[in-house]
Amino acid sequence: MARPAHALIDLDAIRHNYAQAKALSPNSKAIAIIKANAYGHGAVMVGKALSAQADAFGVACLEEALELRESGIENPILLLEGIFEPEELQDVDQHRLMIAVATYRQLQWLLEAKLEHPVDVFLKMDSGMHRLGFAPEETEAVYQQLAQCKQINSVVLMTHFARADEADTSFTEQQVSCFDSAVAHIPAPCALSNSAGILSDAKANQAYIRPGIMLYGATPMGTDHASDALLKPAMSLRSAIFSIRDLPVGERIGYGGRFVCDRPTRVGVVAMGYADGYPRHAVDGTPVWVNGHMSRIIGKVSMDMLTVDLTDLPHIKEGDPVELWGEHVSANLVADHSATIAYTLFTGVTRRVPLRYV
Ligand code: PLP
Repeated sequence: MARPAHALIDLDAIRHNYAQAKALSPNSKAIAIIKANAYGHGAVMVGKALSAQADAFGVACLEEALELRESGIENPILLLEGIFEPEELQDVDQHRLMIAVATYRQLQWLLEAKLEHPVDVFLKMDSGMHRLGFAPEETEAVYQQLAQCKQINSVVLMTHFARADEADTSFTEQQVSCFDSAVAHIPAPCALSNSAGILSDAKANQAYIRPGIMLYGATPMGTDHASDALLKPAMSLRSAIFSIRDLPVGERIGYGGRFVCDRPTRVGVVAMGYADGYPRHAVDGTPVWVNGHMSRIIGKVSMDMLTVDLTDLPHIKEGDPVELWGEHVSANLVADHSATIAYTLFTGVTRRVPLRYV
């Protein structure tokens, strides 16, 4: 029998979550962010599952867009970071991709390009993230250059939120007002919100939203946030118990002997380790679902396996199913126990773990 580790992907859940994003911002088009292999969920499968619904897709780079086009996906696709070298514009042109323009180098490449089809551009403004984009006072002049260029079909004004996942919405509101005043005289549609912006109380008027993590059923607001109830987890990371042993008080489990048995302990070994993408930093007590019951990690996570406490679950036997995150244990909860975020858990699932679709 094959190693039981796998990730079960619920495409209906992703469709549901996309619809929730649209419902929260009913006047906006939604660019479904499926970069990084759809946050580990399989970009082609997710793209196909959403193709009838999605107004557009967003990816990080040309290679990701071409993978979607090669699989037959015809929806508009936005390169969120634009192009990294001018030669990419040939593919942008041929495959009718939309591009972000966030630097003067990209602007120059675009203005000098010879394209067959005028391109749709997302002009990125830096409203406070201070990573990419033109300064507020530069944006109108850049817009004018783009608007006057025959190679450009349309311009959308875009910015990205840095702290929309926080309960205190004041920084996001500051970003929105910085953006609004910088573009007040520009006659172009706007695109502001990521998942956190869509789910937060700080609302912006916009023609486009860009939901990412929420499509996969995890709220960026973290564990126990109300927005959790709107979303369905799309990935269930699963495996099985493949060995069980009983240890007396005082014995230590795993590398470094981190966990010390303080009672006679029944230990289950699960075929899932950090080489599968399970976080190495998961602490003792991290919740794990074992065949209908909650258990917990005891001992350090190894490369190919981890150990769970079955002391109070005497009926659990070898071969029983385990869920590491998904329906019964939220990815956010596992992230909280391993000093990380659901984004890194999803994108970190490795190629050794087959993705199966329902
Ligand atoms: N928009 C841009 C420009 C992004 O880079 C990202 C992701 O990092 C998103 C939207 C989606 O963000 P989230 O997954 O937090 O919804």
